[in-house]
Formats: sequence, C-alpha cells, structure tokens
Amino acid sequence: MENRYDILFQPVRIGPVLAPNRFYQVPHCNGLGYRMPRALAAMRGIKAEGGWGVVCTEEVEIHHSSDLMPNLEGRLWGDRDIAPLQMMVEAVHQHGTLAGIELTHSGHHAPNLYSRVPPLGPRSMGVSGYHPWQTRRMDKEDIRNLRRWHRDAALRAKRAGFDIIYCYAGHNFCLAMHFLLRRYNDRSDEYGGSLENRVRLLRELIEDTKEAVGDTSAVAVRLAVDELIGEDGITHQGEGHDIVAMLAELPDLWDVNISDWPNDSVTSRFEKEGYQEPYIAFVKTLTSKPVVGVGRYTSPESMVTAIQRGVMDFIGAARPSIADPFLPQKIKQGRTEDIRECIGCNICVTGDLLSVPIRCTQNPTMGEEWRRDWHPEIITPTKEPKEVLVVGGGPSGLECARALGQRGYSVVLVEARKELGGRVALEANLPGLSEWRRVIDWRLTQIQEMDQVSVYPASPMSAKDVQETAYAHVVIATGALWGRDGVGRTHWRPIPGYDLPAIFTPDDILADRLPMGQVLVYDDDHYYMGGLIAELLSSRGCVVTMVTPAPLVSYWTQYTLEQERIQRRLMAKGVTLFTQHSLTSIQPDRLTLSHTISNFETSLPYDAVVLVGARAPNDELYLALKPALEKKIISTLRVIGDAEAPTIIAQAVFSGYLAATEFDKTSSEGTPFRIEYVEV
Ligand code: ADP
Ligand code: SF4
Repeated sequence: MENRYDILFQPVRIGPVLAPNRFYQVPHCNGLGYRMPRALAAMRGIKAEGGWGVVCTEEVEIHHSSDLMPNLEGRLWGDRDIAPLQMMVEAVHQHGTLAGIELTHSGHHAPNLYSRVPPLGPRSMGVSGYHPWQTRRMDKEDIRNLRRWHRDAALRAKRAGFDIIYCYAGHNFCLAMHFLLRRYNDRSDEYGGSLENRVRLLRELIEDTKEAVGDTSAVAVRLAVDELIGEDGITHQGEGHDIVAMLAELPDLWDVNISDWPNDSVTSRFEKEGYQEPYIAFVKTLTSKPVVGVGRYTSPESMVTAIQRGVMDFIGAARPSIADPFLPQKIKQGRTEDIRECIGCNICVTGDLLSVPIRCTQNPTMGEEWRRDWHPEIITPTKEPKEVLVVGGGPSGLECARALGQRGYSVVLVEARKELGGRVALEANLPGLSEWRRVIDWRLTQIQEMDQVSVYPASPMSAKDVQETAYAHVVIATGALWGRDGVGRTHWRPIPGYDLPAIFTPDDILADRLPMGQVLVYDDDHYYMGGLIAELLSSRGCVVTMVTPAPLVSYWTQYTLEQERIQRRLMAKGVTLFTQHSLTSIQPDRLTLSHTISNFETSLPYDAVVLVGARAPNDELYLALKPALEKKIISTLRVIGDAEAPTIIAQAVFSGYLAATEFDKTSSEGTPFRIEYVEV
C-alpha cells in the first residue's frame, strides 16, 4: 500500500554511493570524540539501526595544527587514528547505512593547547575564545601542506571505510571558511581579494579529495550560506549564493546551513521547525547534486513537503536523531505517535562544550549505549513482574513509570496535581518553551498504551497514604521547590529582608502570581529561569531590572548556545541589566546591590523582588518513609530526580530511567558503567 511518507524512503545517489533513504544524520559533536571511540561507535551504530540512511562523524581534525583540545572531537592526525574510526564505520555499515566523515582544519578556531604549534590563518589574527595568542599567516608552503594533510586524511578516511568524505566550510570553524570571509582574508595573492580567489582553497580541497578518493567515496561540501550578520559576512542573496553558483557541480553533495553554531542549532525558544528553509532554498536551483538541509525536523509531514517543494533532497538532522535515533523506522512503520520529538533545549550541545559525553533531555540513553548497554527502544524485561508505586508525575516520575512499565512491572503513578508533568507542565507556559511539553506528551502517550501502568492525578500522598497502599516497592519523585530566602550559587546565607511581603519566587510566577510595578529579578541560578521571568514580566508591563552576580546574564546558557540571544532580547525589551552584582539586603522601600569585585554599593527603589536562587528538594515524603524501609514494612524505597538532588530536566529524566533499569539489580562494587581506559 502506498504510504504518504514513501518519498522519504527513496534511495538517493550521492556520486559513487547510494543512500538507502533520505534520512541523513549530519555531522554533530558529542563530547565523546577520539577519547571514547567505543561509546562513539555504539551511539552512531544505534542511529543506523534506527533507520538513518547516512550517519556522519563530528568534525574530525586532520592534523595536530588543528587541535581543538580541551574539546573532544574526532581525530585523523595519523594512521593510528584509523582503527577507532573504523569501529564507527563498521557499526554503521552493519545496518546498510552510509558512513560520512567531516574532515576539518580548524584554522584560528583551534587554539592548539595540546600540540603547542602556532594556529594557522589566512592572516595573523587572534584565535577564537579570547586566548591571548594569534595565528601564523599562512604562506604558499603552508597552503600546500594544508592540501596535503587534507588529502592524506581523505585517504585514511577511505581506508577506514567512509562512504562520504566532507570538505568543511561551515560554522566559522574551519580554514576553508576563514579563507572565504572578507573580514578575515586580507590576502593580496591568488587566495585573497576577489570571491573567485577566496573560493580557491575550498575548490582545491574539493578537487584534491575527489582526485584522491572520489572513485569510491562521495565528496561532500558543508557550506554556511548565511551568517546572519549582513554584508560583513556571507549572505544567501550575496556571496553564499555566488559560492554555490561557482562550485555547483563540483562536489557530489551539498550540505548547507546557516552559521555560526548558535544560528545553526538555535533553540526552540527562538526558532521553530524548518527555520533554515528561507536561507537554503536557493541551493537546489543552482545544482543538480543532492542537497542536505537541517531545521530540527521532527514532523514527517514537514519533511515530505520540504522534499516536495524542492528545498532539499535529504532531511538532515542532528538533534532529532539524538532525541530519537529510531525516528526513520517509526515513520516507516507508521508509528509516528511514537516519535520522541526533540524539544530544542540544546542540552545535547552542553556535552560538547563542557567536554563530557553527550546527553539528551528526551532520550536518556543517548551517550550511554556502550558504557551502560542502553538502547533507546529496548530495555531488559523483568523476570519478576512486581508492583511498584511511583509518587510524583514530573519528568523523573513519568520516565521511571514508563520505563518500569516497559520492563513489565505493574506500576501505579500518583500525582498530587490535576495535570501530569511536574515542573515541565508549568515551565512550558513560559515564553518560547511550549515545545518542552513534548517531554510529558511522549511519556503519557507511551504510558497510555501500557495496561500495566495506571496513572492517578489529583492524588497527593502522605507517608501514611503510601503505607496504606501496602506497596512493597516505592519510588519517590516529588521534585523540588524554589527557595524563598535568596540562598543561591553565591549566597550561602539568607538575604536580609527576604521575608518582606513583596518577595516572589519562580514558583509564584509559574503559578501566575505575578508582581507589578518596578520589579527586580535577582538571578543566582544562572540557567534560563531568571532571564525568562525578566522577559515575561517585562511583557506584562513591569519595569524590570535583572541583577546577577555572574559576568553574563543567564550565564550557563552559554553552553546551550542561547546566552547572546537571551541578553539581546532582554535589552530589546528595555530590561536594565546589572551583572557582577549581588543583592545584599532588601529594606521595605529600597534594596542594596553590591558589586562582586569592588563591593561598591548601589541603592534602588522597588515594588517587588523575584529571588531566583537554589531549589530545595521536596524529600519530606522520602524521609518520612525511610523508617518503614528500615522496619521492612516497605521492601525497596528510592528517591529520584529533583527530590534527590535538584537538577536540570535532562538529569531528572535520566534519573527516572536509571532507577527503572536498576530496579532489580543488586548493587555491586565499582562504577555502574564501563570506562574506556587508555591502552598502555
Ligand atoms: P522531577 O523533575 O524530579 O520530576 P518535578 O518537580 O517536575 O520533579 O515533579 C514532581 C511532581 O511530584 C510534581 O508534579 C508534584 O506535584 C508531585 N508531588 C510532589 N509531592 C507529592 C506527593 N506527596 N504526592 C503526589 N505527588 C507529589
Ligand atoms: Fe533535542 Fe534537547 Fe535532546 Fe538536544 S538535548 S536532542 S535539543 S531534546
């Protein structure tokens, strides 16, 4: 029978290779890199198993002069780096999927902290990341060397078995792009000046790669066609267009996006599905070669129309493939309601930026495929289907109940409120966060299909209630509440005046108890909440001042690539910002701020203060039940999620899944996961 999504499953030729379908996992970083090759191979292999037609590496450094340490990316500096990458290729090939590799020389983006050789650039220029050193201006010999390193890396990639080999000119992360950009390239030789000259290096890299490996491997180009900075950069109507026109038929595939990374991987708070289409749609009008685009597509309808409208040939995805490695298979099997849709929070990105293994809010198994043997679709069934009571229906309780149900346990999930979802149900009402509701929706959809899981909303439980149910196995997922006293990341004692009447917490705001007039939002939490409350209150007519002890507003959102957008939005709304200031006291009519370095004091009038500080675990129920465990009235008792230790949603979901997998395990010595030791 004809399926309306059939078009997505058509094979597509890419030069000498054939992709089995149109699902294309574009290169994406993951914090595993060269350091954890087994974990990396298993993670990529799972995506191939889930039906992605092409699965690519992250950026892979071609030479030690492109050393991105402390970030953990791929490496192909020499022959010894082939075997680890081969593991990934084999894992991917096992499922009939093509393996792609993104070869990169990072130019001034690579600080070379490990290799200690001078970074390279089209001219002498500062390296990224405020490091106090500069690149060496590349001479002709350097350019010849670069071409040789790239060619050698392509040959190694071919030996590793890669089907698609990239020349990378995207994200402002690579030399080929640095040469393209007028603002970096001031050369007067044949590699600078006219666009023709600035494109020369990229053209040569493509030609070299085709000549070296093009007989068996496809040669792809990843190009940023717009940087969203106007005429100072590449634009899709200007040089982005002209570069594609010049090189149109040279590569076997065009993988096009907008730059830099915060634009390419913009969060759902700022852009919705398909946001890149207006920038990339021109590419297919200039080339007969297949085109890959991204735009956080999770809806098969949007994917089909993107192909039918001629915007792209492949649905490229990083985040949707992380949140649901089995997305293609679910579409193929007509199980679209089972797709675990990405919520666009960028917690996955934090893994790379903090140089730790990737994690995902929606998919707790991401990054854990090898070290814990976790699989996004399969979980070990229980041999002894016991009955379990889960108290609290936030992300951790929902995930724990779902995963226990999947394992075959009989689960009763009780939730105090009428609505399931805990903090997510409330936070999804904040400006821009509506997609976060998918954390609840996916879990409830799965649970509704399980006879063995019953859900009882509007059922607050006391310790006595729990004991009266006579459940022998109890999981407590009762969450956390925002503190009222101003204790946060930098204040360890309550802020004097915190108990005055005009003091609010995020829980008040989430419950729609809003202040009015001149409101000071004091953010000593540093993730999204303070900035979102400032944005919300400003939209509701308050005159908002936001104060934070950190040097940037919403400091931690640097790791989710959102910080600049958040600050820009707050500034556009007229929010007054005080960074590096502590709130030291609140008097009835004024409050006092102190500069964190100089201690210089500022006094401000106010009508209300919102204190965004630490959260207190709501572990009363757990503590009240512990004696019952000790007296063996209850056989097992576990506290998870925010009730155990207040955390981000991703970690609460992980905690729920972990508790479900460990339910019938006896604890053992050592780490509960495999470690990739360095062989000596
Ligand atoms: P987490 O992120 O750990 O899942 P949340 O705060 O999002 O935590 O969710 C905790 C949920 O537990 C909330 O929906 C809350 O209403 C519920 N809850 C808290 N205490 C009880 C209780 N005693 N009985 C039932 N539900 C409770
Ligand atoms: Fe999507 Fe968030 Fe998962 Fe990243 S962490 S894939 S943005 S749900």
